[in-house]
Amino acid sequence: MLQAQATLVLILLGPPGAGKGTQAGILAKTLQIPHISTGDLLRLNVKGETSLGKEAQGYMNGGKLVPDDLILDMLFDRVGAPDCEKGYILDGFPRTLAQAEAYHKRLGNDVKLAALNLELSDDVIVERLEKRFVCSGCSAPYHLITSPPQKEGSCDRCNSPLVKRTDDDEKVVRKRLAVYHSQTAPLITYYSKGQSFKGVSCNRPINDILEEILDYLQEVAR
Ligand SMILES: [Zn+2]
Repeated sequence: MLQAQATLVLILLGPPGAGKGTQAGILAKTLQIPHISTGDLLRLNVKGETSLGKEAQGYMNGGKLVPDDLILDMLFDRVGAPDCEKGYILDGFPRTLAQAEAYHKRLGNDVKLAALNLELSDDVIVERLEKRFVCSGCSAPYHLITSPPQKEGSCDRCNSPLVKRTDDDEKVVRKRLAVYHSQTAPLITYYSKGQSFKGVSCNRPINDILEEILDYLQEVAR
């Protein structure tokens, strides 16, 4: 069957903690297109011992970063699958300007591209993560606003004390955000020059954010 419409490539940019993963999951379900994380792809290829996975493992064994070209090979291998014909959502990639340029060079212009920048201030991200706890016994996640425990400080399931995750520590979070901003600022400039770029404020309920994104995608699809 011929595809009537060009493949939709939805790129989600935004700082860690802005809710990219959550939004990507909801969008994938709503639009019925796969949510692709290059981190997961790498793990799958390594675990499955594909030829690309073995090559990647070689770099990892040597303590080296897996080169962008190899990640792109895995990505294009994945998006060539039939379930990506209608489109796909990229979350966490590209992360740098070099990755974006290499990706678009290979992708070409035969797609409908939409790049969304999920915006949330560093202070709000830190504040949200401050309210996140995990059970020291069974690892169940809690959030003081969205999913508080019934009894303060202890797990509903196993009664163990709730603790903060070490990577939610303010210092760690601020450092991660600083790295994100320095790597991604040029990326945002790159995409904002194109026609299909939109900043989306994420300091509001998830459904409002989703609605704005879906409205925008309708425009892009025209
Ligand atoms: Zn527990």
